[in-house]
Amino acid sequence: MAILNMSKTLFKSLFHGPYTTLYPLKEKDKYERTRGKIEIDMPQCIYCGMCQRRCPTGAIQVDKASVSWGIDRLKCIQCGYCSEVCPKKCLSMDNHYTTPSYGESKDKFTNA
Ligand code: SF4
Ligand code: SF4
Repeated sequence: MAILNMSKTLFKSLFHGPYTTLYPLKEKDKYERTRGKIEIDMPQCIYCGMCQRRCPTGAIQVDKASVSWGIDRLKCIQCGYCSEVCPKKCLSMDNHYTTPSYGESKDKFTNA
């Protein structure tokens, strides 16, 4: 019986196309709650640093002196914790993924 099941799987795999997609050439479907990347509504930010302190991977840098907010996209694990703790609710999870990159992928925003 096990051999029959294995043969069925083997034949199905032989004639099925690839299960993977050619990302980023072909994008996967996105859903409303897909965890893509963190976005910030900069004018609302008060530089309290709560997001930076609570981020489990240290992906966020807040600098009150230069009124800037930055994120290392490759460090972010899309947990969404920063958006939950932000007192101004200016962080949100966009359902579009970060653009693929070979090197660093850091974004910095400022109100200056
Ligand atoms: S989603 Fe999680 S890992 Fe990414 S910046 Fe926010 S707290 Fe950090
Ligand atoms: S928690 Fe919100 S208001 Fe505070 S620094 Fe982060 S983004 Fe700005």
